[in-house]
Amino acid sequence: MPPSVANLLYLMAAVLFILGLKGLTHPRTAPKGNRLGAVGMLIALATVLVAETGLNWPLLLAGLVVGGAIGGLMAQRVQMTGMPQLVALFNGFGGGASLLVAAAALASAAAAGAQDLQVRIAALVSALIGAVTLSGSMVAFAKLQGVVRKTLQFGGQQILNGLLLTSALGCGLAALLQPETMIGFWLLALLALLFGILLVAPIGGADMPVVIAVLNSYSGLAASATGFVLGNNVLIISGSLVGASGMILTRIMCRAMNRSFANVILGVPMGGGVTVDADAIYEGKVTATSADEVAMVLESARRVVIVPGYGMAVSQAQYAVRDLTHTLEAQGVVVEFAIHPVAGRMPGHMNVLLAEADIPYDQLMDLEAINPTFDQADTALIIGANDVVNPDARQSADSPIAGMPILDVDRAKTVVVIKRSLSPGFAGIPNPLFAADNTLMLFEDGKKAVAEINTALAEAGQG
Ligand code: NDP
Repeated sequence: MPPSVANLLYLMAAVLFILGLKGLTHPRTAPKGNRLGAVGMLIALATVLVAETGLNWPLLLAGLVVGGAIGGLMAQRVQMTGMPQLVALFNGFGGGASLLVAAAALASAAAAGAQDLQVRIAALVSALIGAVTLSGSMVAFAKLQGVVRKTLQFGGQQILNGLLLTSALGCGLAALLQPETMIGFWLLALLALLFGILLVAPIGGADMPVVIAVLNSYSGLAASATGFVLGNNVLIISGSLVGASGMILTRIMCRAMNRSFANVILGVPMGGGVTVDADAIYEGKVTATSADEVAMVLESARRVVIVPGYGMAVSQAQYAVRDLTHTLEAQGVVVEFAIHPVAGRMPGHMNVLLAEADIPYDQLMDLEAINPTFDQADTALIIGANDVVNPDARQSADSPIAGMPILDVDRAKTVVVIKRSLSPGFAGIPNPLFAADNTLMLFEDGKKAVAEINTALAEAGQG
């Protein structure tokens, strides 16, 4: 294929990626955006395969079949709640691939005695970022999967990290000056892998979603550098798009949690990491309720705000929630949904679940829009949310989530919380909302509880 045709096809793929990203900015256009991106990727892949010469087809096809089968199986099997782990793995594999391509490019350049400085610098950058992404993502995966539960923090950690990074850069310089040997390159890769582990190990709790977004961005930057190594324009563009969008997402999430990027990445705990005694907060102050009582509360309401959280995803309560919405609306109750940007376990988690249950987008309100209206809500119905409605973020400067913007549900007349127990959420801290005077706790699985409320409302309607 002539290079001009290949470049034209790459340009087409890049335009499709950009249109795809634009589509992803709104739930209504997201499926189309996803398809455009996928078509772009297909064009890019097909062009590489046709335009490149000297490919090892049997090896390539074997890789495609094995990789495609593993990826397809994982995507089929993964629960929506396990999505962040899957994204962490994908980021890690992306970083690992960049590292391997850089190694192969440098090794063959060394064997051929090639001296292209630009390619060598790009390969070292690709290896450095790729290795950090690979090991950092594996640690993030282990944490999100619950395999590693502790955060690793010790004195002098930042100094050690600084030393590791400086030494890795030093090895990179050595590799540049001595292109005939790969020792500098492998030392750089080893130090960068260690750096990635130590970078993510101290980060925990509610900061994990930001880490995933950062690693996503790094995997894009590594891919972009690999594009320079291979002289492949579409890889440069698509890597840059991933890198930039990952950084924008990181910024949005840091804002949503009132965290500075530096504090997240340095593992500085929120609010100074003070631990709170749950018994002192809950003892004698929690009011348990029943589905029948909640049905009565909802029947007498004029405006109800439903706040979904991770527990709605776990219990798959979204269809029962839709039925509840229809029943209440039929009784003239205004129902709205309050969506926190980090509710659940991935950005947009709640939007996806509610869209799955055909709840119209115009009923979903974001944090800034809904917060000033909570004091006009008769009932705030919390379904499996915890951290995103914890008033300590607002009230207590010592709280590990101090300063994180939360949904101000405590300002509603009555608050009903559906969850199975008083267990904490992702951030691992107690929630004074559960002990508030205007809060009723319905201790039950989310889906079961909402179904029982629906039954109680139906029976009351017939009676
Ligand atoms: P939380 O993790 O704070 O709380 C979820 C609550 O759901 C738990 O307290 C749990 O209580 C309850 N729950 C679990 N299973 C069920 C069930 N079957 N039925 C009913 N309730 C259930 O969730 P939020 O959505 O409020 O907050 C999200 C948290 O996750 C934030 O800290 C955020 O930073 C973090 N995070 C967000 C990501 C994102 O991108 N959105 C990614 C990774 C982390 P109980 O066990 O008592 O039922």
